[in-house]
Amino acid sequence: GRKEGKNRFKFYSSDLGIQNYKDYIIRTQLHHAIENNELKVYYQPMVNLKDNKVLAAEALIRWEHPEWGTISPGEFIPLAEENGLIIDIGKWILREVCYNYSQWIQKGLPDIKVSVNFSSVQFLEKNFVDNIIDIINEFNVNPNFLIMEVTESVIVEKNRKCILALKKLRSFGIQVAIDDFGKSFSSLAYLNSVNIDMIKIDKFFIKNCLTNKTTNVIIGAVIDAAKKLNINIVPEGIETWEQLYYLRDLNCYAGQGYLYSKPVPLEDFEKILAKGKCK
Ligand code: C2E
Ligand code: CA
Ligand code: CA
Ligand code: CA
Repeated sequence: GRKEGKNRFKFYSSDLGIQNYKDYIIRTQLHHAIENNELKVYYQPMVNLKDNKVLAAEALIRWEHPEWGTISPGEFIPLAEENGLIIDIGKWILREVCYNYSQWIQKGLPDIKVSVNFSSVQFLEKNFVDNIIDIINEFNVNPNFLIMEVTESVIVEKNRKCILALKKLRSFGIQVAIDDFGKSFSSLAYLNSVNIDMIKIDKFFIKNCLTNKTTNVIIGAVIDAAKKLNINIVPEGIETWEQLYYLRDLNCYAGQGYLYSKPVPLEDFEKILAKGKCK
């Protein structure tokens, strides 16, 4: 009855905890987020570590909920993967990115690459590859601008369908990056056998590279091997000058992190792009 309705929030927040209440909100409202225009793309620059030039941007989704404020992807992407909404969300963000990129070109801003995160669940969609190609063609942009970020799980599961999909996308012109490298300990030799363009070293390793001897050795070896295999290596989560100097010394070409910029809304990113540089 009326009394129950009034106490609903109290029930969820005290008995199930605020996190469960939030999960409940996410589960029941996420499918409206696209149609209500509540999803936003933020961009974080990927920078040349030598001269601070912006080389690329990673597109990172945000949900601007009318009551809850900004909900981070870490909170709603796992639920979207569970209920399949990630398929629509993935198409939405790819369209946004293609549109924004086409505008940058029209405005004469630097022609950078843009990387988009793809969940392994998206690969299960029927016609996954064709749908991506259709979206890119819809905006009449060169597929070369796009970097597809996938985690090791996509290729490590010895999933022949995924590997075939990546192969087709690469022959169309899209670049493939392995995200969060190091979390699942797949070997570089294996990664090389599936043909990828970029490896993003997980921020955990960058956080510990100066204090943990093992991490230090692993990073050095990975950067060395990637160079020999002609794979671009991009450390994520660079937060301090010490980390930057360390990575520069290893001749690491590009990187990403709060030291340069947090992920920012489109308007702010365009200002960074107009300068062409971070710092
Ligand atoms: P990710 O792909 O590993 O993205 C990098 C995350 O690290 C981002 O968190 C970014 O804001 C954060 N980050 C960047 N620089 C630093 C730094 O210097 N220090 C620290 N501590 N963190 C840094 P965010 O934006 O919250 O995204 C979390 C995850 O959500 C992403 O991790 C990605 O797996 C997923 N995600 C985001 N957008 C999308 C999307 O459009 N589609 C899919 N499938 N997943 C997405
Ligand atoms: Ca990523
Ligand atoms: Ca990721
Ligand atoms: Ca990552």
